[in-house]
Amino acid sequence: VPEILEVEAARQVLEARALHRPIDSVFTPDTWFLKRGTTAEALRDALDGRQFVAARRRGKLMLVDVDDGGVLGLHLGMSGRVVVDGDAAGDPLVYASNRPEAAWHRFGLAFVDSGQFFLRDPRRLGGVELEPDESRLGPDALSLTRAQLDRALAARRAPVKAVLMDQARIAGLGNLLADEALWRAGIDPARPAVAVDANERAALHRAIRSTLRTLGRRGGSHTGDLPRSLDEPCPRDGAALRRTKVGGRTTYWCPAHQR
Ligand SMILES: [Zn+2]
Repeated sequence: VPEILEVEAARQVLEARALHRPIDSVFTPDTWFLKRGTTAEALRDALDGRQFVAARRRGKLMLVDVDDGGVLGLHLGMSGRVVVDGDAAGDPLVYASNRPEAAWHRFGLAFVDSGQFFLRDPRRLGGVELEPDESRLGPDALSLTRAQLDRALAARRAPVKAVLMDQARIAGLGNLLADEALWRAGIDPARPAVAVDANERAALHRAIRSTLRTLGRRGGSHTGDLPRSLDEPCPRDGAALRRTKVGGRTTYWCPAHQR
């Protein structure tokens, strides 16, 4: 499942391969994939004859700037990958197939130079929209400051893990990254966010940064040190891990050192 690290890899593919190439035509075989009132006709109007000039990202939302000032928003959902001229990035392919099924191409573009961009999404939970609302997203997890983390957690009675995954509070962390960061910080995922004290917030901020840096280098959000299996002990202290639901999501954690 793409989390911020996979979306950042997809953004880099767009930045390296899809900018400054005039667009010849827009491919919208799946109107269900067009979100928030975006229509196939509006996409053609917005993109035909234009070119992309920048590929940005906020959390898990990709934002592609068009040369006339428009913005195309791309969501990878649970299994989406960006494919430009056959170069792909996005879903880590641990759980989904990467067969080049044309039926999984939910949206695409042909460039005048005959190259192609596709959004490939077997599970069809991603989407495309024009002029996405960036203001509904919190600060980006990859550049999260200590003060932003403090603000995100302040006065929240919800479990700290649920707050970390709330895209309006912090944009980009999903289930795997949140579990890994809380495990590294030694914080019980079910504790109310408001009860996490200043020293623990400092540890959590360091843990989020180390999680993103280390797992980014290793190749994605599925490469954490916290096992996602009850057959393996906690790598830090050898205790038996627990699996519970926190904020509706399956959560692995260590009762010996996460408090
Ligand atoms: Zn432990």
